[in-house]
Amino acid sequence: MKFLGNRFGQGTQRYREVGVFISIAVVLGFLFVWHSSFPGPVPVQHASGGQPGKAGGSFSATRSDPKGVQSKATKTNPPAPAAPALTPFPKEGIPVLMYHSISTIPGNTLGVPVRQFSAEMTWLHRRGYHSLSPEELYRALTAGEKVPEKPILLTFDDGYADNYYAAWPILRANGFRATFFVITNSVGPGMMTWNRLAELVRAGNSIGSHTVHHLDLASLPAKEQEDELALSKQTIKSHLGLDVQAFCFPSGRYNTTTLQLMSKLGYRIGFTTHSGRVHLGDNPLILKRLRIYGGMPLSSFERLLP
Ligand SMILES: [Zn+2]
Repeated sequence: MKFLGNRFGQGTQRYREVGVFISIAVVLGFLFVWHSSFPGPVPVQHASGGQPGKAGGSFSATRSDPKGVQSKATKTNPPAPAAPALTPFPKEGIPVLMYHSISTIPGNTLGVPVRQFSAEMTWLHRRGYHSLSPEELYRALTAGEKVPEKPILLTFDDGYADNYYAAWPILRANGFRATFFVITNSVGPGMMTWNRLAELVRAGNSIGSHTVHHLDLASLPAKEQEDELALSKQTIKSHLGLDVQAFCFPSGRYNTTTLQLMSKLGYRIGFTTHSGRVHLGDNPLILKRLRIYGGMPLSSFERLLP
């Protein structure tokens, strides 16, 4: 009995301990469920649109910091547009717009003022234009691949810093992607840096070579031309990991040697300063473009486009 009584007594003690433990567990569980039913911290909404310079910056911050801010990145990005209808290569041709600096440069029409550029991109967006990459244009030209309705290419020569600060926020706000042709020896402070270019690439833009030194290729011996084409390609590869196949001739100058070197070195599409749209059957190494100059009235801009 005593033994049993003791056992019984010890058992009662254990049951009490277990009972207390279960009670604590139930209370903790209840507290946990109760707390979990509260909404988490409200994500900070990034301002978008109002401050052009910062729009790209916030995008980069969310891209480069994978911890905790990824949800903000999706909040910051504009909603993905519905997939456009695809059409065969348009008979009226595909316009390739050529810009340089997006800034006001007194006495120099290579600078397109921000206000003018914004009006042009807004007009294109409202008219339903869709921006192509050089690769998409190449496949449409050479493989008969269809293109979105109202296709257009937006190109920027020389790699001006304002392409990132001024042009990119406007492009992005209108749902466009562009192609930036960089002079590899000029990339850095004062122009776009490799970090900025990497951001543009991550956001879906394209980079092309505009040589190493922006020399007149038609006046250079073959060896120097080859250096300009090959070294710029290698430098872009080493900084951005891209095998660029798009090329832009400095000042639009080239000769037959240039075109032979392009094919040899793996360039597949080239952009000149000859004026006109790109048509099916054109040589992809020497495509025409439409120069947009500072001070161009919007009515003139509209007349360039199909
Ligand atoms: Zn140039």
